[in-house]
Amino acid sequence: PIIASDISKIPFYKKQAPKTKSEIAVPLIVEGKVIGVLNVESKEVNAFDNDDLLYLSALADKAAVAIRNAQLYEKIKNFNLELKKQVDKATKDLRKANKELERLNQIKSDFVSTVSHELRTPLTSVQGYISLMHDGDVGPTTVEQKEFLGIIKEESQRLTRLINDLLDISKIEAGKMQMTFSDFNLLEFINNYKKEIESMASSKSIKVTFILPDKLPSIKADVDKIKQIFNNLISNAVKFSGKNSMLKIIIKVNTEDIQIDVIDQGIGIAQKDLERIFEKFQQVDTKMTRKTGGTGLGLAITKHLIEGHGGKIWVKSKLGEGSTFSFTLSKNLK
Ligand code: ADP
Repeated sequence: PIIASDISKIPFYKKQAPKTKSEIAVPLIVEGKVIGVLNVESKEVNAFDNDDLLYLSALADKAAVAIRNAQLYEKIKNFNLELKKQVDKATKDLRKANKELERLNQIKSDFVSTVSHELRTPLTSVQGYISLMHDGDVGPTTVEQKEFLGIIKEESQRLTRLINDLLDISKIEAGKMQMTFSDFNLLEFINNYKKEIESMASSKSIKVTFILPDKLPSIKADVDKIKQIFNNLISNAVKFSGKNSMLKIIIKVNTEDIQIDVIDQGIGIAQKDLERIFEKFQQVDTKMTRKTGGTGLGLAITKHLIEGHGGKIWVKSKLGEGSTFSFTLSKNLK
């Protein structure tokens, strides 16, 4: 800071500021750096004293901080503007990429759906002819031929199931899975379906027990889809169980819904895999899954069908001890 008592003789001032006779100048300092000068001029010589200098120094300190804040604010404002521009651009790019992904996904779903349809038609006719040959309707077969035809029949049925799963998942993804609800009595359904369940289990000599209530309220449901749900859960239970084990099906009525438990004594599922098995194409990597094949679509489809009935599905399991798959069907569907 300086006080210049008489500058009238200095050539520079004479030219630039002819009326200035004295001057006081105080630096504006922020964080040790001079960012400007606070300068007061007078038309008289000796206009300033030390008090003025002290006063202006104090003022300069405050002014320096204020100026620095204003500069920072401006910088932040510009930075925000730039950031917003970049975020806007990134959002726009993402939207574009997302649209493109949706388009590609649609093409993939259409492709899976078309191919599955195309595969199913000839397969149906192959199955028809194999059945005729297997059942001896077109002439006698040797024991060995009958055995081989039986294997072909089973394998083509498996192929049909895989294709149907693919068709279902592509329908679900395209939001085109339709359900037709009508009055439905689960007790009647189970009683009609018992033999089929027992026959599925008999391939591994699995004993099936049913624990059913005496009465069940009539609900709204899509019978074909309910059959599909049961088929998926029971075929999984059989698939992942050993010979001579037990399979239990319990039905009970809750306040809001009907609950079905499918309990097996099979290989069980590790805690860490419990959530993901309901996602599509998810299988637990075990010797059994590698041997039995499958697509990992069954539970994803089953979950969707159950949710379509206002219900939910969950599983409790212990590795090596068995699994309990439980699901509900809403009593309040209109
Ligand atoms: P998939 O049976 O075609 O493999 P799912 O979606 O039906 O497909 O089942 C996914 C996976 O969940 C199976 O591969 C298996 O690892 C596991 N899983 C399903 N049900 C059972 C069960 N009852 N016991 C043990 N593991 C099971």
